[in-house]
Amino acid sequence: MVENSEIETLNDICKEAKVQGKLLGKNLTDLFDLFGQRFTKALEALKENRVKKYIFKPRGKTVWIVVGRERDYLLMPEAEFCTCDDFYFRVLDRKIHMCYHLIAQKIARNLGWYDTIEENDDLYTTLMAEWKKATP
Ligand SMILES: [Zn+2]
Repeated sequence: MVENSEIETLNDICKEAKVQGKLLGKNLTDLFDLFGQRFTKALEALKENRVKKYIFKPRGKTVWIVVGRERDYLLMPEAEFCTCDDFYFRVLDRKIHMCYHLIAQKIARNLGWYDTIEENDDLYTTLMAEWKKATP
């Protein structure tokens, strides 16, 4: 596991968790070893059901959000991108690879630990503007 990047390791663990339908004890240990506090925060977000998948109808655009303490964070999981400060300042600085929102979203998606919220396409632009506004 040492040679793997954070993302690869997380993807491997997620794959295993998906098959098991849960995170095993050793998964939790590995994730904590890998991410430390970031994993603790991700797990907290998962336990508090703060990962949301928005589907805009009828066009079917999908947006992932992690509800934070002060605001919502917009994620673009395909691009490994998040709108939080942690991501902006540290990931771009290459100090860390993933913020806790991205960790939480990956686990949530694989285990189905998220809420799906359906909105009308009319709201897409408004909500996206709101979510993007917070980007530094
Ligand atoms: Zn983030």
